[in-house]
Amino acid sequence: MMSGGIEITFCRQCKNALADLKIIEAEIEETAKRADWKVRKSHEKIKAGISACPNACAAPQIKDFGALAFIIPEVDRKRCTACGMCVQACRENAIELEEYPVFSEKCIGCGDCMRACPSEAISGQVKFRILAGGKLGRHPRFAEEVLIADDTNSIADVFSQIVKISMENKMRFSHIPGCVDILKKRIRG
Ligand code: SF4
Ligand code: SF4
Ligand code: SF4
Repeated sequence: MMSGGIEITFCRQCKNALADLKIIEAEIEETAKRADWKVRKSHEKIKAGISACPNACAAPQIKDFGALAFIIPEVDRKRCTACGMCVQACRENAIELEEYPVFSEKCIGCGDCMRACPSEAISGQVKFRILAGGKLGRHPRFAEEVLIADDTNSIADVFSQIVKISMENKMRFSHIPGCVDILKKRIRG
């Protein structure tokens, strides 16, 4: 989606999706429509990428604003039969099967184990990793994590701040020196 000088990419929300992005889409697009951000050159556009799982198909890591959904997996011990299917499903090698599965810090929250469990013993609260300040071009830079959000309101709020900071500085967010620090100060009040 393109609105004025703001380019927003949502992933196609395939079978791996951990969250429904419809509400976020509406809020983000509304903010973009309201923003008076007109540019003449492609590299001046504010870019946003929002993905429904850590596979990050919308490339949030290289956008001014990025968000991706993930889960923190948990096991229901009453349901678990210790079959080991979750261990086989995890491409990050993040599960040790002791009496029950134990998740390590290598977990990226993709949900593959949850989908693979035949006993529906794995669940997880959906959260969003919010990133800011990424860009390509002559001096490419990966976006930095600025917040872990439990709800979609925070996603829309951070996006709105990024557009506001761009407008105040008359410069695309990721081109402003110290942009991520400016944003962090605003988020943390
Ligand atoms: S980011 Fe995840 S949910 Fe979205 S299209 Fe890619 S694999 Fe599917
Ligand atoms: S796949 Fe499910 S039932 Fe099997 S070990 Fe993992 S959590 Fe337990
Ligand atoms: S959520 Fe993904 S990375 Fe984490 S333990 Fe399950 S399969 Fe592995």
